[in-house]
Amino acid sequence: MRPYILAETNWEALKNAEFELAILPWGATEAHNYHLPYATDVIESDYIAAESAKLAWEKGAKAIVLPTIPFGVNTGQSDIYLDINLNPSTQFAILCDVIEVLNRQGIYKLLIFNSHGGNNFKSIVRELGLKFPKMFICVSNWFQSLERDLFFENSGDHAEEMETSLLLYLKPELVLPKEKWGDGKEKKNKIKAFSEGWVWAERKWSKISEDTGVGNPILATKEKGEKFFKAVTEKMANLFYEISKADIENLYE
Ligand SMILES: [Zn+2]
Repeated sequence: MRPYILAETNWEALKNAEFELAILPWGATEAHNYHLPYATDVIESDYIAAESAKLAWEKGAKAIVLPTIPFGVNTGQSDIYLDINLNPSTQFAILCDVIEVLNRQGIYKLLIFNSHGGNNFKSIVRELGLKFPKMFICVSNWFQSLERDLFFENSGDHAEEMETSLLLYLKPELVLPKEKWGDGKEKKNKIKAFSEGWVWAERKWSKISEDTGVGNPILATKEKGEKFFKAVTEKMANLFYEISKADIENLYE
């Protein structure tokens, strides 16, 4: 029983407990190239949040990890079989209910621990911040927290070298053999401004990738996954600790 994982702890341990920070991991259920499981983002959420919370707990953070939300925004993959979409308005409703509990019970810090690129919580957090003025609500993207080039050779953002390496380390029994891996080749928008990043439109997934991957996984290894996992959990643990100890009335210098 890990005391910082809500799903594992119990009323005996919690009836007199006082946490400073709640962490809500948020994944997605979607195709990840041919070779990774649909729960890839959920597995990453579960393992990275739990290990980071363990390290933060050992330093003295009072942080508790809530159960991972398994569905994310998949509006661009409506024609990909069994990619389950949760609309942003549904995410708003879920967060609103979770925050109402935290707010009522005096846990005024929430970190949304995002693991899926299609989840975009910024505008939701702005609106909920206004609704719950005592709450400090923030959102992290662990996959942007480190310089990827230090760990991986090929870029990409979906079922690519990074995600494949992580899954080879965390759940190798759920990764298909290498001969099944697609090359994750992505088609770019003909209008060049979209690649420059200052114009945005949702990518229609089935039009940009044959195998649903974006980024070539060919150089992925378990060792790369392990090295990245250790670095990313250390960085996130530090964040958990800092938020948990921070005075939210006195955040700026
Ligand atoms: Zn993913």
